[in-house]
Amino acid sequence: MNDKKPAFSEKPACSETYIPIPEYITCPKCGEDIELWSDEEETLCIACGYKVFKRENTVH
Ligand SMILES: [Zn+2]
Repeated sequence: MNDKKPAFSEKPACSETYIPIPEYITCPKCGEDIELWSDEEETLCIACGYKVFKRENTVH
């Protein structure tokens, strides 16, 4: 009998623990304060619908 085990890779428990925190950024279009969670890279402005990026990747 050949008893094969599934290949489990042992990870340190702390690597799974990531708690996102809210940040407030200002919409460059209308100036509204938008809540952006730290695990998100972009969000839509609640006021004008403008797509706001966390990093200032301004596309010219
Ligand atoms: Zn806006």
